Amino acid sequence: METMSPAPTGWTRETARVEKRDVWAALKRGFRGRCPRCGEGRLFRAFLKVDDNCSVCGLDFTPHRADDLPAYLVIVIVGHLVVPAALVIETNYSPPVALQLAVYLPFTLIASLALLQPVKGAVVGLQWGLRMHGFDDNPPEGIPPV
Ligand SMILES: [Zn+2]
Repeated sequence: METMSPAPTGWTRETARVEKRDVWAALKRGFRGRCPRCGEGRLFRAFLKVDDNCSVCGLDFTPHRADDLPAYLVIVIVGHLVVPAALVIETNYSPPVALQLAVYLPFTLIASLALLQPVKGAVVGLQWGLRMHGFDDNPPEGIPPV
């Protein structure tokens, strides 16, 4: 009678042999709104609503946990564009405040809305590339699904 070996509970050579994922390519594909695995299927079904799975390769997108990170990253990016520009312009040219507000506020709004979906896609792509949350096909035992 054969005895079954217990399932590996930690790192083994077999558990380490998994599909290689190019994190940078996955991030770029997500930034373009495409599936991080195949780069063909659409990642979003609405402005910020991630689709359930890829229409081309069938990758399940539901394990993503982007949460508030895209919004935080957009604030950092847009803030680092608007604030230094406003300081330089105010220091060197001192235009009227109304003119500054008429330029900075719409730019901030448009840039934030324009970056939100690509940044969220990049976050989802990064999570897939790093096997975060449910994107790991071979998760270690003892970690409950998110
Ligand atoms: Zn795909």
